[in-house]
Amino acid sequence: MPKMACMDCGAVVYEADSLREMLVKMMPHYLEAHRDVVSGTCLQPRSTWMARFTAAYQAVNDEHKTSP
Ligand SMILES: [Zn+2]
Repeated sequence: MPKMACMDCGAVVYEADSLREMLVKMMPHYLEAHRDVVSGTCLQPRSTWMARFTAAYQAVNDEHKTSP
C-alpha cells in the first residue's frame, strides 16, 4: 500500500490504497496539528492544500506501483 508521511511535519505516516482513503486517514492529524493549514482562512487556501496533497499522494502511489 502506498505510504505517505505528513507533508508539513513528517511525524506521522499513513498507508492507504486511494487518495480518498488517505485523505480520511490524514485529515484528523491535520485538524489537530495543522488546523491553520487546512482551515483555508490564512495564507494557503484549502484548494492549494488539496492540490499539494493530491500531488504528494500521486508521487508515493507511482513510486509504490513501480517498485517490486
Ligand atoms: Zn503533520
